[in-house]
Amino acid sequence: MPHFIRLLILALVFMPALSTQAGDVKDTDVYARLKKQLDAVPAIDTHSHLGGPGNMKHFVEHAFRGEQPKDCALRRVWNTSYFTWGHNLAPWPADHRFDTWWTAAQADFNNSRARSAYRAMLPIFQDLYNVDFESLTLEQARELNTRMEKNLMDPDWADEVIRKRANTELIVVDSFVMPRQVRGHHPFAVSACNVRWLINGFHPSEFSRFPAEDPYAFAAQHKMPVESLDDYVAVVDRILAESKKAGAICLKSQTAYDRTLQFDRVAKHRAEEAFGKPRNELKWGQVKAFQDYLFWRLAELSAKHELPFQIHTGHAYIQGSNPMNLVDLIQANRKTKFILFHGGFPWVGETGMIALRCPNVWVDSVWMPVLSYTMGKRAYKEWLDMFSSNRIMWGSDLFTVEGTYGTTMYTRQCITEALAEKVVAKELREEDALRIGRQILRENALEIFPSLRKLTKENKTMSDD
Ligand SMILES: [Zn+2]
Repeated sequence: MPHFIRLLILALVFMPALSTQAGDVKDTDVYARLKKQLDAVPAIDTHSHLGGPGNMKHFVEHAFRGEQPKDCALRRVWNTSYFTWGHNLAPWPADHRFDTWWTAAQADFNNSRARSAYRAMLPIFQDLYNVDFESLTLEQARELNTRMEKNLMDPDWADEVIRKRANTELIVVDSFVMPRQVRGHHPFAVSACNVRWLINGFHPSEFSRFPAEDPYAFAAQHKMPVESLDDYVAVVDRILAESKKAGAICLKSQTAYDRTLQFDRVAKHRAEEAFGKPRNELKWGQVKAFQDYLFWRLAELSAKHELPFQIHTGHAYIQGSNPMNLVDLIQANRKTKFILFHGGFPWVGETGMIALRCPNVWVDSVWMPVLSYTMGKRAYKEWLDMFSSNRIMWGSDLFTVEGTYGTTMYTRQCITEALAEKVVAKELREEDALRIGRQILRENALEIFPSLRKLTKENKTMSDD
């Protein structure tokens, strides 16, 4: 055989192997096997803002009453996604016509094709509607929107998309309130107790715009005095107890949007300076001291009521949302289970370091792959290098059924890709990658929120036997 033909045969034999190595892990058999098995894991989504079943109907009802539409389903699904954070999306036009909106929106989509916040939404169109969003004609877009609006009216749509298609079994929903009673939720949803309001309880006027969240009204209802800071802390304690009774499984703080996460350990007398005074009579330092004091009490009460503390870190008030700001609080409250949200994005390495040093820290990757898929994948790999795999979780973090589907599938892909890369690089056995994927998608949530276990099908089947 001539030498050049032998070389050609050799090249043909080895080329596919070389190109697989240098190429996309998603083209490998390892990825395909992991993806198939991990997609079959009924996931537990630890953070969402999904509205209840009645939430969407009113939005499309105008069409059935023959009124001019105020928006459309396709625009709404994008507008309530993270696509619009810091980026434009053409507003609903004055002529109320879909065609006008779609034509104007094209430039916004074109400028975002590479963004993860855009790409995270593509599985919606590809899987649920079988259309390629990136090459839609005006006619196809119009038809897609009509199909989406029909689905909004279908009472079984949420169950079909979330339970059957995304294979999510349970979702922890943060409705931005402190739940007092379970109401208006999907059957697969459980509540987080949002505590953002409580740290501002130095004066009742803080709650005039949010009467349902007013701890002073709660105190009056329960005949509890609020004459002193100690009284106020006792009211907060009672609110958490009632929230737990109403089904809340954790506390959630989004304070990182409003101020720094540097919560100092302040003496009671400093917090007392603000108590009973309206904000306009206080300096920021006094307000901060009160908030810091309350945040420390919330950390203690989180342990007392066995309600793990979900804390938004990263990507908020960026001058102060680095999770490193929380380390003193975390280390002084060893019995509290702190869950650092969003992986501290973009401080994902710092978050890994905190988890490495503090056994009372869990890391929730919620939102992270949607902010940057590349950083998300890197973070999963670095965290698995750094700390034990039973302390990582995920969440979808969106408001609509379809948005929830998009971010869920995108996150499932990111987790699987990170694990497959470790297997291909011979840093992890495939059976361990599978077990770890199952932990991140499901088991870790059941471990930190044991009350969820009784709500799972697995448990119900076992107790039926
Ligand atoms: Zn959220």
